[in-house]
Amino acid sequence: AKAEGRHTIRFFDLAMQEVANKRVQIETELRRALDEEHFVLFYQPKVNYQGKLQGYEALLRWQHPEKGLISPMDFIPVAEETGLIVPIGQWVIQEACKTLAKWQSQADRKGFILAINISARQFKHKEFVADLTAAIDKFQVRCEALELELTESLLLENIEDAIGTMTVLKKLGIRFSLDDFGTGYSSLNYLKDLPLDSLKIDQSFVRDMLSNSDDAAIVETVITLAKSLRLSVIAEGVEEAQQADFLHELGCDLLQGYFFGRPSLIHFD
Ligand code: C2E
Ligand code: CA
Ligand code: CA
Ligand code: CA
Repeated sequence: AKAEGRHTIRFFDLAMQEVANKRVQIETELRRALDEEHFVLFYQPKVNYQGKLQGYEALLRWQHPEKGLISPMDFIPVAEETGLIVPIGQWVIQEACKTLAKWQSQADRKGFILAINISARQFKHKEFVADLTAAIDKFQVRCEALELELTESLLLENIEDAIGTMTVLKKLGIRFSLDDFGTGYSSLNYLKDLPLDSLKIDQSFVRDMLSNSDDAAIVETVITLAKSLRLSVIAEGVEEAQQADFLHELGCDLLQGYFFGRPSLIHFD
């Protein structure tokens, strides 16, 4: 039993070592990806029930020279840990503002709203507001068309600071959406203090709401809550017509999901 114990520990150390190595490898490769601009933004439509396009959400992809497209789920956590999310997020902002400026010079895309995802470490960084406003100035974008998707956990880490940053940006006209709503702490108390424009119902509730009455109840409650706080509400992960119908009947304003369009590389020019 003693020998076995030692063996287990050795094995554990090796496994830990492997995780650490992998992390260092991703970090090294992420730095190179930044230098060589191996990132791309995919765009996923946000529509109303009639299918009319209201705007897009920008979703980051890493275009790896050997491994192909890498999902943000596979590198955002390492980027967060290492702080690389700050320059990566800065690249996302620049790229998104460039796209938005293009739309705003085109009659058929003038009114579109472009949403970008902001992670905690990026949002809390001392240069965040300065970097964002510099990009807005550089590309001359109308702030009313720019939406930032934030998560509950990000905001609750330090609610006073978060409200402070949001208020500064809100004054410029930037919109805020609360992403993955319902999956976090869901302390409803803070909602009324945040300068939000919309709530985003997490796809995990949408997925099963037609067969699971608990999920349906949560979806209905979030929509009712949004209405009473005078917030717009959007559902993500809509994959079927029946889901869209159900959400529409409950009063959900906007819809997003594979049923209406997958995230894709779009050349806006
Ligand atoms: P999210 O913000 O919750 O984005 C929604 C995710 O659901 C996206 O995954 C999207 O491709 C996927 N999705 C959209 N419609 C459907 C559907 O109908 N069915 C299903 N099953 N999935 C759908 P993606 O693009 O892999 O992004 C994953 C997460 O990575 C995002 O979750 C977001 O938290 C993060 N992320 C993406 N881009 C950025 C970025 O530029 N910056 C930061 N900080 N995070 C990002
Ligand atoms: Ca999002
Ligand atoms: Ca989400
Ligand atoms: Ca999510």
